Amino acid sequence: MPAVKRKYRLHYLDDPVLREKSVPVDEFGEAEAELVRAMAEIAAAHRGVGLAAPQAGVLQRIILVTPSILPEGAAPVLVNPEVVWRSPETENEEEGCLSLLSVMTPLARPARVVVKYTDPEGREREVEAEGFGARALLHEIDHLDGVLFIDHLSRLKRKFVRDRFRKMYRELGLGTR
Ligand SMILES: [Zn+2]
Repeated sequence: MPAVKRKYRLHYLDDPVLREKSVPVDEFGEAEAELVRAMAEIAAAHRGVGLAAPQAGVLQRIILVTPSILPEGAAPVLVNPEVVWRSPETENEEEGCLSLLSVMTPLARPARVVVKYTDPEGREREVEAEGFGARALLHEIDHLDGVLFIDHLSRLKRKFVRDRFRKMYRELGLGTR
């Protein structure tokens, strides 16, 4: 019997879909709800704190961030998110990405951000996040523009992360699937 092909799966570095620009979502319907459920499954399976739709192979401006790192009341699903303010002060903390098998490296990011977004019910909202929450929002929103966290690193650090990722990717046999 042929293997059942899953509709959504995690896409890894070197997959061109991660470098494309995502399009805004006009209406959050059943297809988007199904996508978000799949994204939540992928994030949970890989113990991620967030995921962007392009990582699931879909070029729509939707991100997922685990509620525990956002202020109370923020929606875990952010549609058409947009950074409207970033603090001048930065924080240099470890960061990784599921699409790079969570190879971690320190990266300076704004300590606080304000993000405007629409929730799945179509309400316009805003969230002010700090620390790890701000980092996650910036990281996931970058994905919607085809930007990966390694793009913010020096050439040497980028090479270190890429090489470690490629080695793990081979060892896990992911390239042969
Ligand atoms: Zn990522």
